[in-house]
This record gives sequence, structure tokens and C-alpha cells, in this order.
Amino acid sequence: MKLTDLKPFTNEPFKDFTDPATTQSMLQALAEVRSQLGRTYNVYEGQNTFLSTNPANPSEVIGIHGASTEADAQTAVSTAQTASLTWSKTPVANRVQLLLRTAQLIRDRHFYFCAWLTLEVGKNYAEADADVGECIDFLEFYARQALHLDAATTPIQFPGERNLLRYVPLGPGAVIPPWNFPFAIMAGMTTAAIVTGNTVVLKPSPDAPTIAAKFVELLTEAGLPPGVVNLVQGGPEVGRAIVEHPQIRFIAFTGSKKVGLEIHERAAKVQPGQRFIKRTILELGGKDGIIVAADADIDSAVEGVAASAFGFNGQKCSACSRVIVEEPIYEAFLTKLTARVAAIQSGPPADNFYAGPVINPAAHKRVLDYIALGQTEGRLLTGGKAIDTKEHGYYIAPTVIADVAPTARLAQEEVFGPLLAVIRAKDFDDALTIANDTEYGLTGAIYSNSRTQLDRARNEFHVGNLYLNRKCTGAMVGAHPFGGFNLSGTDSKAGGPDYLTLFTQAKSVAEKISVASPQAEEQEQGLGL
Ligand code: NAD
Repeated sequence: MKLTDLKPFTNEPFKDFTDPATTQSMLQALAEVRSQLGRTYNVYEGQNTFLSTNPANPSEVIGIHGASTEADAQTAVSTAQTASLTWSKTPVANRVQLLLRTAQLIRDRHFYFCAWLTLEVGKNYAEADADVGECIDFLEFYARQALHLDAATTPIQFPGERNLLRYVPLGPGAVIPPWNFPFAIMAGMTTAAIVTGNTVVLKPSPDAPTIAAKFVELLTEAGLPPGVVNLVQGGPEVGRAIVEHPQIRFIAFTGSKKVGLEIHERAAKVQPGQRFIKRTILELGGKDGIIVAADADIDSAVEGVAASAFGFNGQKCSACSRVIVEEPIYEAFLTKLTARVAAIQSGPPADNFYAGPVINPAAHKRVLDYIALGQTEGRLLTGGKAIDTKEHGYYIAPTVIADVAPTARLAQEEVFGPLLAVIRAKDFDDALTIANDTEYGLTGAIYSNSRTQLDRARNEFHVGNLYLNRKCTGAMVGAHPFGGFNLSGTDSKAGGPDYLTLFTQAKSVAEKISVASPQAEEQEQGLGL
């Protein structure tokens, strides 16, 4: 494709699973992926391995992966360092073409990647589709943004000089994604880094290693040169070894507050031989609240809260885990919300149940522990228990606990599961105070029919992604650049116009033009990133 023919960015359309033909395509993809389960990925002789399993059926092995050691991490960083010498000089057009080819390959195999997500992390069809669609969006969006950044320069020319501002790569960096958007976030951070000329050591979550291995295979098929993306697999130990490596120049991390802050601290310590202040791009957890004002449309608020709290079992950083309801409508809202949540069906994501399992035994225990705590901090309205199935998936009934105090642990700590706390607010001022009173600041929403209240929320509700009269999940690349305030991260705004600059350093060049040919100005076009 000629880059001059590139059309403006548009979001990938969602698939319509009410169409039987679409569902049939998904079922065929699931059958195809099932025939490929249990394969071994990137294991060298003598290497220890670990298994990725289906959270809905833990005896089903999705993939077998080599467990990278600290020595493997060192090798990966050295390879990335060597490759960065040539990749950083590769014309931006070539790097952009790589992203566009990869996006097209994903589009061609859309349901195939959805099926891997359904089986590896338990996404129902719509959630898997959203993850794959967002992945395509990131590639398409960053491809265009890279061209934009390449054409950027300083707006001011000093008399007698030719002034340039170029955005150049940082060098080799680490990409450490979470398990919950294992395709979109993993691929988004990786491709943002490489399209700007950096090389990467990619360490996916051990709960979602297969989908990452598939993505790296795809990049290679699309023409990725060796050494530009170096996959290592494993958990915290190998992650730490990458973060601490003196040649790593940036760490793009999405995950929990605890791990993100640890990475930030480790990255701050200058290691022997290090010649760069490591940059951290951190997108962390949330305790996202929705305010339901006294004059809100209750039905619409109930729907938005239920979708935000229980879509993908609340396992989204943007998930609503606190709903703050004004006193006059508190009981009426609870009655409708309880009925709505109690009707949610749990079962295997491969059969397209709305609520699947949580990701692993540790998450299962954590959420059940919070439910037990919640029953001491509030009143259980629905759910409150594990659900066993014949495959022993990690299911938990969607749970709502009311009358939670704003300072209770359930109102302050990220649970990351199907558990919603309801908090009573005296009035709108009280609701805003409660909404802002956590250490997080990722997403938030308000349901209100008052223009004054909506305007006040726009100015005073302190979150990175605020939604008025709609749910607080489902950010779209381009329209809703994503990232949080406070301890929810460095507000990097993935999928936004400023994101790629985080992966570059700006170099200012001033040339005196009195002796050089003035035509030099016109000759210098398309300076690479
Ligand atoms: P996590 O923090 O446990 O793990 C994230 C990644 O860090 C994984 O790859 C993990 O193996 C790695 N890791 C763990 N310990 C490490 C260490 N000490 N050093 C280096 N790497 C280490 O998070 P998770 O359970 O995978 O994901 C859920 C969390 O991610 C939630 O808190 C959620 O809110 C957050 N999240 C945030 C966003 C966002 O955009 N803000 C998006 C998705 C998820």
C-alpha cells in the first residue's frame, strides 16, 4: 500500500453476534484453535516450561512455554540493543508499513484471534471481539501518528537559522503488559515502541503467554526484522531482570499499582554502566466510581453500572467498582440493580455466557476474600459465592454489596473482579467528594439530567477518563485517549495524539543559514524518527 493512499483513521467496527453467520464464524474459529491447543512455543533444549490453561476448564492446556531465566533476559536486551542500531535508522515509512500489514493480517483472521482470547483468558465473544478490534485500532492509529510525528518540527524559526525539532528513538526498552487485554494492550505498547524506532524486550503476563507468542509470529510474518521484538516469558523474576538492565531505556508497563510502583522505583536506580535516565510509562489500576444523581434516569444508570461493573467480570482497569448513589433514589436504584445483576448468567465463555470465570486461582481467592470482607463492611444484595462447574472453572457469582462506607476497604482498594460496592451519598456535593476520595483516578462516570451537575463533574471529577451519562468502560482508540490520574498511572493516554512522543526524545537542531545554501531548507524533507 502507498502511504499517500492511507485513509483517515476509523475504529474497527464491532462484529454483530446477533447475526447467526457471525456466531458461526466464531464457532469455526474456536474449533480451529481447539485443534491447535497444547502446542509448545519457543522452548530451547533444557529450558524449564510452564503451562497456560483455560480458566473455564483448568485441565485444558492452551500452550506450553519456555520459562525465561534472568540470563535469557540479558540475552534479549543485548539482542535488542544490537538491533536498535539498524532499526532506529530504518525509514519511518517501512516501520509504518509493518504495522499496517500486521493490522491487515489480524483483520483477515479476526475470529481466530478472538478464539485464542476466549480460551486463554475467558473472554466471551463480544469481549474478545473488542480486544481484537482495539488491537487493530492501535496499529492503524499509531501508524498514522508516526507519520505525523515524523513531519513535526518546531513552530518557530529564529532569524538567520534553520530550526528543526526531530523526535528520535530512545533505544531498547521493556514492554510489560497485563493479562486482561492480552492482545490489544500487549500489541499497542509494543507497536508504539517499534514504530517510533525503538527495539523491545516483550514480557507478557504468564496468564496470557500464547496470545503474545501468536502476535510475535504475526509480526514476523508481516516482515519484522530479527531482534526488534524479543519475547521472553515468565513472571516477576524475569520482569525485574529486564527492568534493572542498564541498557533498557524505557519501561512501558500496564498492570497493577503495586507492581507499577515497584518498577518505577527499580527503574529510578542507576545501574553500573547505565547512561540514560530510564523512562517509565505506567498505566495502573483503578477504583472507578459512577455517580448516580437524584434526577438521573434510573434505568439507564442501572444498565450502565451493570455493564461497567460486570463486563468481563469486572476484570478491567476501567471497571466500575463503586457506585455512589444520592439518598433520594438509593433504595429504588438498589432494587433495580439487584434484579439486573442477579439475572446475569455465568458459564463457559466458549459458549458465549455473559460472565465467565476469573483468570486464575489467586484471583478467585482474592475476590472471595473481598466478598467475605464486604459482608462485614456492608449488606450483601446478590451473589456472594463461588460457582462450581463440572470443569472446575474459576467462577464467582456477580456480587453487589450495599451500604459501604466511603472509607471502607471495599470502597478504596482495587478488587479486579465481579464485586461492586454501593455507597450512599447525602447529596451531589457529597457524591463528588466521595468519588474523588481514593488514591486512584482512572475512569469515572456520572448519570444526571442536570446540565449544572454535568458541568461540575466535567471540572471537578478528577479522573483521566470521565464519561457523562454513559458507562465508564469501553474506551475507543482515538476518541477516548486512555490513562489515569493519581496512582492510576502516568496518564500516558494510550490511543491518543501524544502517546508516541513518550517513546521518543526530541532533538533540537539549529543551523546558521548565512553561509549555507538557502535551498537546503527545501531539500531536507521527511527526516526519519
Ligand atoms: P500485574 O501487575 O500483576 O502484572 C502485570 C505484568 O507485570 C505481568 O506481565 C507480570 O508478569 C509483570 N510483573 C509482575 N511483577 C513484576 C515485577 N516485580 N517486575 C516486573 N514485572 C512484573 O497485573 P495483572 O494482574 O496482569 O493485570 C491487572 C492489573 O492491571 C489491574 O490492576 C488493572 O487495573 C491493571 N490494568 C491497568 C490498565 C490501564 O490502562 N491503566 C489496563 C489494564 C489493566
